[in-house]
Formats: sequence, structure tokens, C-alpha cells
Amino acid sequence: MRDPAVLDLFPPGSSVGADGTLSVAGCCLDDLAEQFGTPVMVVAEDAVRARAREYLAAFRGRWPHTEVAFASKAFPCTAIQRLMSQEGLLLDVAGGGEIVTALAAGADPARMLLHGNAKTDEELELAVGNGIGLVVVDNFDDIDRLERIVEPGRRQACLVRVIPGVQAATHAAVATGHAGSKFGLLPADAEAAIARIRRSRVLRCDGVHTHVGSQLLDADQLAAAVAPIAELGAFDVYDFGGGLGARYTYADHPPTVDAYAQTMIDRARGLIPAGARIIVEPGRSMTAAAGCTVYRVTTVKQSGVVTHVAVDGGMGDNLEVSLYGQRFEAALVNRVGSGAGGETVRVVGRHCESGDTLIDGVALADPAVGDLLAVPVTGAYCYTMANQYNGARRIPVVFAADGRARLVVRRDTWADLLARDVAAEDG
Ligand code: PLP
Repeated sequence: MRDPAVLDLFPPGSSVGADGTLSVAGCCLDDLAEQFGTPVMVVAEDAVRARAREYLAAFRGRWPHTEVAFASKAFPCTAIQRLMSQEGLLLDVAGGGEIVTALAAGADPARMLLHGNAKTDEELELAVGNGIGLVVVDNFDDIDRLERIVEPGRRQACLVRVIPGVQAATHAAVATGHAGSKFGLLPADAEAAIARIRRSRVLRCDGVHTHVGSQLLDADQLAAAVAPIAELGAFDVYDFGGGLGARYTYADHPPTVDAYAQTMIDRARGLIPAGARIIVEPGRSMTAAAGCTVYRVTTVKQSGVVTHVAVDGGMGDNLEVSLYGQRFEAALVNRVGSGAGGETVRVVGRHCESGDTLIDGVALADPAVGDLLAVPVTGAYCYTMANQYNGARRIPVVFAADGRARLVVRRDTWADLLARDVAAEDG
């Protein structure tokens, strides 16, 4: 029995051939696995571009003076950052490393915003030295540092990050809007920070920023942060952060971008000045659905009542499961949708942790060694959290479009594993 629902989780434009084999952006995943090896992350390039345009249209159609900033942390490789810049998005960069990749992508530093709750002198020097458009001040130490770093005669534009006091209905690890959050300042402290910046001879306060959390499936929760920052006064810029959830499972029903924009702008109208600039910073909802990861099954075994289907990747390429219990679905590449009648198995990774489970309970029809398994919705926060645990070689990223595939990030080599190990020669 075919269960077409799984296809809906793969990037828009994915299809299943007559032989039951899955293609993404016109590229058969079987062929991509052959060409690039496994595991491999496949990104449907046109799906990312379409999402960027959807965001711009949804917000600008309702509030023309909106900028959409891609939250680079969701996928900070040059190919993605370049694509976002080409589509006219700003880049939100969290820390020096994302500035470096954004610059290498050819992005205009004036169209970047720097975040971080623990920015160092080095990072702020990099930001100021390269002319980053906006620095989002998270604490008073940011102000001290900037006042030392920005040369007299220049003015660094800043936003002040405010804790909106919103308890988001999401995993604790990605909730950021509650009192007690390590990000931003409580409203009274934010007022003091704004006043200090206004007195500074080298800084300029352009506005306020907030971010409620990530993987939110209720737009009202995101909009709940609008009033607390609007109450801080009239500014040129109000940055509402990111947070819109992605559809990882059949049970997830995130609002459309249109519905999200409608809710945010409805809430903002009347609360913020008509001429103000709104910024939103989507990450997950921009890229997650455009990506999928293809693994090779390495072993299938029974242990007690559970069938373990082990693949050649795991928490080295997808930390979302062990960090915040994110649920994923999967399909066998050559038998897509035939899982409905299959046995419920546990898909596990190759790493030395019992927590290295990719999917605890998914129906797969007769999974066997050598099968290809595709996990959809891995296009956000997987590449960026990749690690080399157990000597894993970080996996490649392939852009697929119109039946053609191109490598944009290569797989680590064995030599890469030794590249930083300066004592390696001592032996
Ligand atoms: N903006 C800020 C300040 C963030 O901290 C984050 C994520 O942590 C984002 C935007 C992006 O959030 P999301 O990927 O949920 O859209």
C-alpha cells in the first residue's frame, strides 16, 4: 500500500517515478547517492528561492517597508547565504564565523545584522571593521565594547534586544522570549540601554529587536512579542525575529507564511509608527523543508522487541533529535510510500550513544542492508550543527535544480580530521 503523505514532507516539486523511486528537483536520489556517496544532504534550490520570494511578498504586500533577514544560523554555507542575498534578503549573522561566510558569499555587509549574547571584542571588531549594518545589542557589555571599538566620527547603528516575556510553546532549548532567557534585556533594562546608546557619540539606536523562540506552530505566540517592544517607544526599526515552525511530521501544521505575516502585521498596525521599518528573521521556516538527507542502511537487527535500522550517519549530521527531541519521518528511496504496511522500526545512527536515534518509530517496508533511506526536512540546523563525533566526516551538501545537481559543500576527508591536530606529526 502506498502512503503518498510522506512525499508532502519532501521539498516542493519532489516526485516518485513509476518504479517507486524518489526524485528531488528532478534528480533521482538513487543517482545522487551514487554520485556523491552517503550520507548526503540534498537541497532543492528553487524551493529555497521560492520561499524567500514568498516571505518578501507576504510581508511587503502588507507592510511595504519590511526587510526579510535570513537567519544564517539555520544554514550558514556560502551557497545559501549567496542565494538569500541574490533574492534581496538581509543576512542575520550570529557571531564572527557567520560574518566570515557571509562575506565570502559576497553579501553586502551593510545588509547584515549581527546577533550574539556573548559577543567578543574580536567579533565586534570584525563587524565594525567590515561595516556591518546593524549590531543587535544584547547587554551592557556590548555597549562598552562598541564604545571602545567604534572610531570617533563614525556611528554604528544598533538595535536593542528585548525579552518580551512570552513563554513559547516549544522545546525549552529553543525558547528565548521568557523572563530568565539568556538572550536580551528585560524591558526596564532595555530602556536604560536605549538611553545609553542615545547618549553615545559613536552609537545610534535605530530600534528594538525581539525573538520568541524557534519551531513555533502558533502565529499568535510570535505576535505576542509585538506589543512589549512597541511599548518601548517610537523607533525607525522593529525587528520581530524569526521562529515560524516547519512541518516535520504529519501532525505538524505550521501557519503559512501568508497567515504568519497577516497575524504579525495585524498586531503591529496601530502599535508602531506607520513609517517604521519591520524586520523579520526566518531561519528554520526558510530552508528546513527544502532539504533532505539520504543515508545508506548499514545493518538491520532485532534487539528484544525493537527492530533497529542503522544508517551510515546520525547525530554527526542531525543533532536536532538528541538536542531537542525533534521528530522526523523517513522513506526508503526506492520504495517511497510503501511504509504504510511495513513494520515500525527505530532508525538509529552510527555514533556511540544510545541517544543517537534518528527516528524512534517509523513504518518501513522490509528495510534491508544497502537500502537508501531519505529523511525529509533536514534543511535547517543540521548542516550547521554537524560535528565529527566518532571521527565522522561531515557530510556534503548538494544543490538540485531542474534535474541537475551541483556540490556546494564537499564531504570532510580523512585528512580533514587531522587538519587541526598539530601533534599528529609527533608520532
Ligand atoms: N533570530 C534570532 C535572534 C534567533 O536567535 C533565531 C534562532 O535562534 C532566529 C532569528 C531564527 O529562528 P528560526 O530559525 O526559528 O526562524
